[in-house]
Amino acid sequence: MAIRKIVVQGDEILNKVCKPVTAFDQKLHTLLDDMADTLRQANGAGLAAPQVGILRRAVVVSDDGEEILELINPEIVATEGEQTGPEGCLSVPGKFGMVTRPYRVRVRAQDRNGQWFEAEGEELMARAFCHELEHLDGHLYVEHIDHFLSEEELMAYYKEQGYDIEEEEN
Ligand code: ZN
Repeated sequence: MAIRKIVVQGDEILNKVCKPVTAFDQKLHTLLDDMADTLRQANGAGLAAPQVGILRRAVVVSDDGEEILELINPEIVATEGEQTGPEGCLSVPGKFGMVTRPYRVRVRAQDRNGQWFEAEGEELMARAFCHELEHLDGHLYVEHIDHFLSEEELMAYYKEQGYDIEEEEN
């Protein structure tokens, strides 16, 4: 297991469409283990393979930094409701913007051994599913925003929501 370097906005690798994973082998398992380590170290909610320079359809998400959900060749199969809130990205460090996403998202994906399964997420997980899957098609959340939030706007949002101040980046 190792920490991999996170590619930041401006690198064209983040704008490329990723290829499906076809080999569920040790190389994939090492990539997923490294992505989990990298996600935990960065204290993020999600990380997509292109963010560590690999153009394959694999993402890891976590809502608590402990349990990691691996999604290989994921696709969204259902969405419900709506949520609007600040979103960040480990490839756009230190910045946030308001993005509207579905409140609940169901995805279909393969696990690290190639078995298909479905998973459902709400709130932060639903947001992470949408955000990470967009990375696989070369898109960043910044395409959905008209401006980055100022520190004041961000704090005002969290205060309004009654949250403890905690930064989440995907
Ligand atoms: Zn991101």
